[in-house]
Amino acid sequence: MALSILLGGNFSRSVAREGFVNNDRPSVRDLQPEELLEIVPLQAHPLPPALTERSDTSGSGDYFDRIESTSVGALVWSEFPVKVYIASDVTATGDRLTASSPSWDRTVAEAVSEWIAYFPLEIVDRRELADITIERKRPPPQRLPNGDIRARSALTQYQLYARPDGENARAMLCHRFEVTINPTQSGDYLRAAVRHELGHALGIWGHSPSETDALYFSQTQTPAVISDGDLNTLKRIYEQPTRLGWWVAIEF
Ligand SMILES: [Zn+2]
Repeated sequence: MALSILLGGNFSRSVAREGFVNNDRPSVRDLQPEELLEIVPLQAHPLPPALTERSDTSGSGDYFDRIESTSVGALVWSEFPVKVYIASDVTATGDRLTASSPSWDRTVAEAVSEWIAYFPLEIVDRRELADITIERKRPPPQRLPNGDIRARSALTQYQLYARPDGENARAMLCHRFEVTINPTQSGDYLRAAVRHELGHALGIWGHSPSETDALYFSQTQTPAVISDGDLNTLKRIYEQPTRLGWWVAIEF
């Protein structure tokens, strides 16, 4: 099962949630995402420009039927560009490395650039600005149904949080993603891992059955680049309703 190491087994991600503490405006009460989840209706956002113009001229189809639904609907972004922070230079806690790695940063940035050709992303230099953080640290190992422990080479998780706007008595349900890449990954494998995991973070919450797609469920000798199948699937996901990114009236 060496092939599944890249993807961390079952879809290489889990969902984590935490409350959001608003430090900027102490007068606004803390708001839990669950509270918004109950009142925000499911609606589709306008497509991001690069996807609007896209049509399936190659007839590649998509793997939209493999995408999982979530409690918030589609995991789409609605404010662009989506901000990505590349974090190799983290402090020593747990399994994190202490030293930064320019070559790691460069390879990860290349993988981000591959998506920028199709999707509005921006690399930012401050962690607190990020919608998506790409971390160089060992993901927690996976426990298999038979009790065995297996290392993951990458893991992508999202959290929900509430963005309060006390002045206008409204709030928005938001998400942020953390992509964790095992420091054992380097070179082409690192680039392929980031390409694949970023696909999840852009909203492709599932896997392709085809080896020719970047979101193929397993690692291959020659990892696929971002394909028409990936982009057709991404476009269909962005046409779906979501509870993310809508302001709703709320009492503080
Ligand atoms: Zn995956």
